[in-house]
Amino acid sequence: MKILVINCGSSSLKYQLIDMENESVLAKGLCERIGIDGSKLTHKPTGKENYSVETPMEDHKVAVQLVLDALMDKEHGVIESTDDITAIGHRVLHAGTIYSDATLINDDVKKVIRDCFDLGPLHNPANLIGIEACEAAMPGKPNVAVFDTAFGMKIPEKAAMYAIPYEYYEKYSIRRYGFHGTSHMFVSGETLKCLGKDDAKVIVCHLGNGASISASIGGKCVDTSMGLTPLEGLIMGTRSGDLDPAVLQFICNHENIDINEMLNILNKKSGVLGMSGVSSDFRDVRAAADEGNERAIMALDAYRYRVAKYIGSYTAAMNGVDAITFTAGVGENDTQMREEICEYLGYLGVKIDKEKNAQARGVASEISTEDSKVKVYVIPTNEELAIARETKALV
Ligand code: AMP
Repeated sequence: MKILVINCGSSSLKYQLIDMENESVLAKGLCERIGIDGSKLTHKPTGKENYSVETPMEDHKVAVQLVLDALMDKEHGVIESTDDITAIGHRVLHAGTIYSDATLINDDVKKVIRDCFDLGPLHNPANLIGIEACEAAMPGKPNVAVFDTAFGMKIPEKAAMYAIPYEYYEKYSIRRYGFHGTSHMFVSGETLKCLGKDDAKVIVCHLGNGASISASIGGKCVDTSMGLTPLEGLIMGTRSGDLDPAVLQFICNHENIDINEMLNILNKKSGVLGMSGVSSDFRDVRAAADEGNERAIMALDAYRYRVAKYIGSYTAAMNGVDAITFTAGVGENDTQMREEICEYLGYLGVKIDKEKNAQARGVASEISTEDSKVKVYVIPTNEELAIARETKALV
């Protein structure tokens, strides 16, 4: 069974074709600048030469057709015809309060995705366009929506509700949803496999350009740091994470800007970028800190402090923790960051094996010592494989 995984952004389309017999990637690629001048397809078939082509893509429909052409290309292709594709799995950002599991797409599901445009204004419209483009290009094939909010939707009410008038939940579904859900689901599931314990208490630190943290028991999410939008929680590359909402009013009044501009600042100009003034990329911030840049040092200090605080609160929420797992760009690659975060966790009996930590890369690795009371892992996230697995399960 071969599953095509599609992840549409407003002007991009990422794809992977996965052979579910052995979960291997047959080909992957990216369409960029859809609907803008300079559209480009980059196609990477496994075991064959990569190729890229610059060709106009007026919309996602054209992009999907180009992807299918590339997958069936005589020289660079990996399948004979679309008959070889069993189903298509789509990453969809937001399902509001309606779906907490992956779902086979029909008109009702598309309506829910459309109804959630205001909850996911950048992603949901693009996700729907991708779905409709696949339906048009491959009529009759099953399409599955895997929602980024699904994992976090399962958190209990006490963790989900904001302490604001209840009518806003009733009127507008204002609550905490959590994001990076597919990654947290995949990585927490892989952590349970590493532990060999189905009912374990797991904290996953997804530390990438966006960053979030989840607590789960036996693979069921009990809390997660992102909220109604991905802005809540940890300090991120460009997002502020948690802050006193009164800060918004103060800055808006003093800088004479409106709430939309303020939100743009919190999403795109804050986080380690805003604090350090150097970059949103942790490699640049680390290099600046190593050279003595005090704001870069402060940004990294604040970043790991926030992660450690969340780990502490999630340990309390679960009354214990069996494993802590690092994933995503920073979590998988930044050895020093992992060690520095774990330095806060001595009270939990966390002990890191420095050599194992230095060697962990690319595959699931345990980085704690034999006698560490809590296991610590580095597990590469793989949202595409998670989407393909969910799609396979439904078709
Ligand atoms: P992601 O959003 O998961 O793709 O993560 C992207 C982020 O990972 C980049 O912005 C970098 O800050 C970070 N990153 C990637 N490689 C490294 C590395 N070797 N050391 C530190 N940070 C890294």
